Amino acid sequence: MKGLNTTGKLIVFSAPSGSGKTTIVRYLLQQPELDLDFSISATSRDSRGTEVHGEDYYFISAAAFQKHIKNDDFIEWEEVYTNNYYGTLKKEVERIWNLGKHVIFDIDVVGGLNIKNKFPEQTLAIFVQPPSIEEMEKRLRGRKTDSEEKIKERVAKASKELKFAKDFDVILVNDDLEKAQKEAFKLVENFIK
Ligand code: 5GP
Repeated sequence: MKGLNTTGKLIVFSAPSGSGKTTIVRYLLQQPELDLDFSISATSRDSRGTEVHGEDYYFISAAAFQKHIKNDDFIEWEEVYTNNYYGTLKKEVERIWNLGKHVIFDIDVVGGLNIKNKFPEQTLAIFVQPPSIEEMEKRLRGRKTDSEEKIKERVAKASKELKFAKDFDVILVNDDLEKAQKEAFKLVENFIK
């Protein structure tokens, strides 16, 4: 990422899935004064429901993903779930910085902390905490996109992830969505000033 105009900021939202972070990230993207653009991750998992290639994710094969790893194309990558790889391509962050915008990430907890460690000054790392594991499980079921087995896997991962909350710059508790959105707005607004 040498020779790049790196004046843009990196806003990381990490949380166990079912915490409501995606809803908060979407809300922030709709606020023009924040000048944010979404970092589209590459993943080897299949697309789900209404997800669109090049909008929600770059859906690529496991082989293509491995090739990117070998070429050192990622800022960070992880096998988030067994056989399902996710990663942030260097090119993606460059694309957004070249637009003169700040980058907003919706990524898992370990990936989020990896970005914070790589770009400590430029990154605001926000951990979105669900009110409780029970509430999170309820939200995942309500979403009706995952099998029972997947829900169990996500809940188990969430319990582990909650332990990382303290390593983030900010913990945002999402027990009232509207309140959480307003708080998120203020945090980002102050950080990009
Ligand atoms: P999902 O399959 O629900 O879309 O995502 C599963 C998890 O992977 C979520 O916690 C999501 O935030 C995370 N994730 C998405 N993109 C990336 C990425 O580029 N890197 C990492 N480390 N995690 C990601």
